[in-house]
Amino acid sequence: MAKKALVIGAGLGGLCTALRLAVKGYQVEIIEKHHRAGGRLNQLEKDGFTFDVGPSFFSMSYEFEELFNYCGEKNPLQFNELNPLYSVYFSHKPKPYLIHKDLDKLAQEFGEAEPNFAAKARKYLQQAKEIFHDTEYKIVKRNFDSKLSYAAALTTVPLKHAPKLWRSMWSELSRHFESQETKVIFSLVAFFLGATPFDTPAVYSLLNYTELQHDGYWNVKGGMYRIVEAMLVLLEKYKVQIHYHTEIKQVEATSDRITAFIDQNGKRWTADVFVCNGDAAAFRGQILGRAKYSEQKLDSMEWTLAPFTIYLGVKGKLDNLHHHNYFLGNNFNDYASKIFKTSVAPEKPYYYVNASSKSNPDCAPEGCENLFILCPVPDLRHKPDWSDAQTLAQNIIQDLSERIGYDLAANTVTQTIYTPTDWRNMFNLYKGSGLGLAHGMNQVGGLRPANKDEMFGNLYYVGASTIPGTGLPIVVISSRLATERILQDHA
Ligand SMILES: Cc1cc2nc3c(=O)[nH]c(=O)nc-3n(C[C@H](O)[C@H](O)[C@H](O)COP(=O)(O)OP(=O)(O)OC[C@H]3O[C@@H](n4cnc5c(N)ncnc54)[C@H](O)[C@@H]3O)c2cc1C
Repeated sequence: MAKKALVIGAGLGGLCTALRLAVKGYQVEIIEKHHRAGGRLNQLEKDGFTFDVGPSFFSMSYEFEELFNYCGEKNPLQFNELNPLYSVYFSHKPKPYLIHKDLDKLAQEFGEAEPNFAAKARKYLQQAKEIFHDTEYKIVKRNFDSKLSYAAALTTVPLKHAPKLWRSMWSELSRHFESQETKVIFSLVAFFLGATPFDTPAVYSLLNYTELQHDGYWNVKGGMYRIVEAMLVLLEKYKVQIHYHTEIKQVEATSDRITAFIDQNGKRWTADVFVCNGDAAAFRGQILGRAKYSEQKLDSMEWTLAPFTIYLGVKGKLDNLHHHNYFLGNNFNDYASKIFKTSVAPEKPYYYVNASSKSNPDCAPEGCENLFILCPVPDLRHKPDWSDAQTLAQNIIQDLSERIGYDLAANTVTQTIYTPTDWRNMFNLYKGSGLGLAHGMNQVGGLRPANKDEMFGNLYYVGASTIPGTGLPIVVISSRLATERILQDHA
């Protein structure tokens, strides 16, 4: 008889692991607290507009190809490469910087601001490329059985990269570039890890290589939620059942095995193997009651920034806006080093805007645009009260209106706001942290909460807070690593 696997959580990590296990002959069921699948990769439909709730693009598109190949399926999605990758508006500059993959074109954008840009960028990106390829298989795409095996793996990475473990991304950029704008733009990748360039280790300059030279950035024809819809079709083909509105609250176990998880209604869910797609650190504390992950311990860990998101449907076509846009002020260092640890919402916020209706017209009624606005803010440890959400949203919308020369407030058809409290409540994100555990050197690889439980031989983890880390392609890798473990342990 087929072994049964129960996956807790229908985020991308849970869906991918469920599919991989089903393809390998497991009988799989998924339980999910939300009313639909996708987790942070979700969708909001309102007043004729469709919004991607979280992710709006991704790197390393080949990881999705790997997933479909693994399952013997043809990739059902059509990916569109972003070109230019994105645009960056500074409050003190009249024109945005368009960030191109083509270095000569990019050099023209920087013009006199950064003399000799192309040569400097080539040197910087060459080093970033070496870090990427020197760690890809040795560190990122592999399981570690112990901290010792992780330490051993680290010794196989060329020693020349070691200083970049201790140096910050900002100080690394300062060694290569002079102008503030260049450093700020190259350091935006730190925010994709949910941190600032001042507390992100320089090794993550590898992300500049992935965006500018390697695979670039992609989105999906029809909207990002097509990824989830495609997964659901495949899961149905493999007879995977999903139960929504079901939240795991408790565990039932012997000393070394889980016997059942128990939901909010007291229902027992049994299986041979369990996979947790909830946060790998918080779940260990809140559901398994592990002292190492008590609230106090969790609070002392490093978490990624929380999202404050606005979904705005507006009348009119916004020709001054590109697909992916960053709106920044002129006090980056001060802003980034302070704002995320205060209890006050930023008065002059920095934010990201995505207008997916530009490439997917079906997402908005004719003559309208759908805007997704993301402002990274302090998590609920630092700012637990979001009763000022409307004021922050108004500040952002007014600032954006001025910068693109279009009165968004007067043309709003629909508006929805998610504060960190909403993000926590919807998907159990710890204290509203948007991307899960941060990626400092003490929280990666063998030092991140492992994807195999320390105590229970039939419990595994997948997703942003276990290895390798956050972001859509990385979570797809996480599903492969978790599946490999399960197949190895339970063959
Ligand atoms: C605003 C925002 C923007 C982002 N933008 C990008 C981007 O542009 N590109 C990119 O690559 N990445 C982006 N990310 C990151 C990306 O969304 C995540 O890394 C990824 O989706 C995480 O997937 P996951 O499977 O680990 O977790 P999740 O998506 O969080 O899924 C976990 C699921 O488990 C469920 N769950 C949790 N606990 C329980 C329980 N006890 N019982 C039952 N169900 C439970 C949750 O409801 C959820 O559905 C963004 C994230 C956010 C928040």
